[in-house]
Amino acid sequence: ANQPIITFHDGHSIPQVGLGVWQTPQDVAAPTVRKALEAGYRHIDTASGYDNEEGVGEGVRSSGLDRKDVFITTKLRNTDQGYDSTLRALEGSLKKLGTEYVDLYLIHWPSPHRGLYRETWKAFVKIREEGLARSIGVSNFYPDHLDHIIGDTGVVPVINQIELHPDFQQKAAQDAHRKLNIVTESWSPLGQGKFIANPVIGEIAKKHSKTPAQVIIRWHIDSGLVVIPKSVTPSRIEENFKVFDFKLDAGDMAAIAKLDDRNARMGPEPYTAT
Ligand code: NAD
Repeated sequence: ANQPIITFHDGHSIPQVGLGVWQTPQDVAAPTVRKALEAGYRHIDTASGYDNEEGVGEGVRSSGLDRKDVFITTKLRNTDQGYDSTLRALEGSLKKLGTEYVDLYLIHWPSPHRGLYRETWKAFVKIREEGLARSIGVSNFYPDHLDHIIGDTGVVPVINQIELHPDFQQKAAQDAHRKLNIVTESWSPLGQGKFIANPVIGEIAKKHSKTPAQVIIRWHIDSGLVVIPKSVTPSRIEENFKVFDFKLDAGDMAAIAKLDDRNARMGPEPYTAT
């Protein structure tokens, strides 16, 4: 397929659009992942904390695709932070996914009150050296968290997956990541579905004969972000992937830039999230 990919500073690359499977129950995950792979997706975003890694693994295997042709991300559960417990946790995730490696392993949250994310990152470096994760990154990290783990190890995460949608654009984080060669990945890219009804997005969608969800996903792509919209509905899974045959113009991008609102965070604040 002619889907865009982004190359990390470690030489590996990631399909720019993936399927998010948060809040997708185990038994729904398998058919949902299979459906997405049939629709052309080659990138699935799960986490130990989503409790659906077995279903994701089953979905990948049932697609008949080669393992190497599917990009799988999983994340370390906060309660598993710490050097040895991280190594054990990844072993558990690999077993559940039924695979020998993940393409990308992320620290799900810095969870600063635990005081363990720096030790955890050292375990991630070992995990990458052993090939159990092709690439290693983080999620919900602020620049000071990034500075600490990079200072400790000299190893820069390839990606930081953060909350990002058209009304919460995270410009400062994007700038900080760019300076460090870290790719920015958008979670809740559709604002958990709630931003789809925005009238500015609606106008742009009409102009391009596309749906609002497609316009928002295209905005992430045209902004250089990795984007992982979630759906369990087959028609929406297809719709969300039909975004490679149009582009937003400068006027569209300028109109969406104006929607940014620093108070529009929907999820937890990463400094205090446990
Ligand atoms: P999202 O922004 O992707 O929105 C998903 C919701 O939007 C769906 O449940 C559905 O209600 C609606 N929707 C999807 N496609 C639609 C369409 N075409 N038309 C109309 N409505 C549509 O929300 P999300 O699940 O919060 O985020 C996506 C993914 O990001 C997650 O599944 C997960 O993989 C990841 N995530 C990561 C973190 C983290 O801490 N790292 C946190 C939250 C989510």
